[in-house]
Amino acid sequence: MAGPKGAFGADPRRAIPSAERVLEDPQLSIWVKATPGRTARTVARILAEVRERLARGEALPGTLDVGALAAWAARERERESRPILRPVINATGVVLHTNLGRAPLAEEAVVNLQAVARGYSNLEFDLASGERGHRASLVTDLLKEVTGAPAAHVLNNNAAAVFLALRTLASGREVIVSRGELVEIGGSFRIPDVMAESGARLREVGTTNRTHRSDYERAFGPDTALVFKAHPSNFRIRGFTADVPLEELADVAHAHGVPAIMDLGSGLLAKDLALDEPRVADCLAAGIDLVLLSGDKLLGGPQAGIVLGRPDLVEAIRTAPLSRALRVDKLTLAALESTLRLYRDGRTAEIPTLRMVGRTPEELRRDAERLARKLRGAVRDRAEIRVKSDASQVGGGSAPDLPLSTSIVTVKPAAGSAMSLSERLRAGEPPVVARIVDGRIAVDPRTLLPGDETRLVRILAQALGGDAGPTDEGAGSARGSREP
Ligand SMILES: *Cc1c(COP(=O)(O)O)cnc(C)c1O
Repeated sequence: MAGPKGAFGADPRRAIPSAERVLEDPQLSIWVKATPGRTARTVARILAEVRERLARGEALPGTLDVGALAAWAARERERESRPILRPVINATGVVLHTNLGRAPLAEEAVVNLQAVARGYSNLEFDLASGERGHRASLVTDLLKEVTGAPAAHVLNNNAAAVFLALRTLASGREVIVSRGELVEIGGSFRIPDVMAESGARLREVGTTNRTHRSDYERAFGPDTALVFKAHPSNFRIRGFTADVPLEELADVAHAHGVPAIMDLGSGLLAKDLALDEPRVADCLAAGIDLVLLSGDKLLGGPQAGIVLGRPDLVEAIRTAPLSRALRVDKLTLAALESTLRLYRDGRTAEIPTLRMVGRTPEELRRDAERLARKLRGAVRDRAEIRVKSDASQVGGGSAPDLPLSTSIVTVKPAAGSAMSLSERLRAGEPPVVARIVDGRIAVDPRTLLPGDETRLVRILAQALGGDAGPTDEGAGSARGSREP
């Protein structure tokens, strides 16, 4: 159990350098300058740990000189100075990845968000009159212009919009819903549960696969508050199915003097994207009275719940008592306004989500081939790199039926498993999240953002245990900074 004999006799602990000498090492100078107290405590903690491990009889070869201890402390400071929530590289090909923050924002939205974050803003202040204003009204004109809706409101997210709409317009009364739409969206958002929380009573009609106009007709009674339709966004029923078209649904509701509401989920606004998803404009044109959708799905903006439709219904929601608890924050409004401007000005090509969904198989094949070439150059014989056809997904509960043709780059490490390689990729800086397909790491270029490709090559080469070769960035920019 005896520890190694140090230079100073029997007790190796006497060989441990002083904290002062470690702190003077040039490797720590930036940390000592920026955070002297914190860095001194880090060094003290490391020296205490070394002392304890030596006392237990552990051999710590190469750890006891000043340079090694300073490097250890610098690594610790580097690690703990990194934010816990930070950018990752999405190599999965799932465009709206719920676990990876859904929609990346357009550059202009980021710039506006930063400007508003840094100082004061006219969040609830009408600059023309000098009087109090309403925060959500900052974007309502833009929403109306872009969607054609007669009125608009914004809440914290779409779950809040669905809840508040039901609560405000149907509490204590009945809501008619098709059994085919009593869905779970994920993350514990279930239409029947939200309905129950809102105080509305669910009146189910039809069957899982078929619901007819006559089913709706029979369900109306004195207690009916509205007809609700949910876009079953994350699955599709195939085969012997029947659904009431939106026009008819609105018709039936109006014939009985109640509104028709649609929880659209993703809510496609873009007109020029060929996706089999219901569009906001189509719902409104069909006579749906209220359309609810997310800001950070196919719209490509920040997390938000967007309420569009009949002015009296929108106003009731806006002024509902719980509205304050579900209100939208100023950073969201800043990003949402900028995103909506891109729609208004016909600049949707600048919205990352739409750009990614719209990428052609030919472009993606070229990207995959280029990435594969760079990877082969960087990893040599440490992995086998191939390109093959595959499918990406829109994700976020959109277009579940519609795999998007893509080409993926697959990486099979010469030593070790794909699983352990994927672990090392997640430990990269920035972390890389990739799928595993047939025992190989799969990188889908569809969801790579500008600058990601170079970083990915560096991180994969490092994860495969070689030197990274030339990198795109200096040491200082490694901590989550973005390239233009
Ligand atoms: C995603 C989704 C929701 C929840 O929206 P959030 O913005 O995540 O709160 C509700 N309904 C449908 C149909 C959805 O697809």
